[in-house]
Amino acid sequence: MEGDWYNDKNEVLGEVLLDAATIRMRVQELGALITKDYRGKNPHLIGILKGASVFHADLVRAIDLVVSVDFIAVGSYGTSTKSSGEVRILKDLDESVEGKDVLLVEDILDTGLTLSYLLQILESRGPRSLKVVALLNKPSRRIIEVPAEYIGFEIPDHFVVGYGLDFNQRYRNLPDITVLKVDPGES
Ligand code: 5GP
Repeated sequence: MEGDWYNDKNEVLGEVLLDAATIRMRVQELGALITKDYRGKNPHLIGILKGASVFHADLVRAIDLVVSVDFIAVGSYGTSTKSSGEVRILKDLDESVEGKDVLLVEDILDTGLTLSYLLQILESRGPRSLKVVALLNKPSRRIIEVPAEYIGFEIPDHFVVGYGLDFNQRYRNLPDITVLKVDPGES
């Protein structure tokens, strides 16, 4: 069938940018940092679906505190790879964030449009504190500055997949973070 080429790993995947062991070590470090910074508190970790799901699952287990979790799903009105700037909520939170110490967990901070929109929405709901944890940061693509307290890795402007990140909903299950060999805009 036309389009099935994206199921072929050899067609799609380029070099490994961050291998599983490197990611694991950094997630442990972030967890230790959050544990120290939130001592005496019960952070509420909100994962942004679907990309941050794998990172969120590992991060919560690296935090040695009593935490609570929730998830939110957002979509952009653009294509899968190019944000239009307009973001809509596809699945809202289950629980109120009022009075909570919220950590918003994102896979990758790219243009900043998604996070800046979400921060605005969540801030209006009255959390006690609101901070961002992003596994990856592509500073060269930023359109809107977003305060991100915890960042895993700064990466160059490549489209990456794996560890939760997809290309056409594929490759989220790869343990490494790998560069896409093809132009993601072609999908
Ligand atoms: P932003 O609004 O910061 O431009 O968009 C962030 C979102 O764009 C991420 O949550 C992710 O869904 C998507 N994105 C940005 N860069 C990449 C990338 O290199 N790979 C993948 N798979 N998604 C990306």
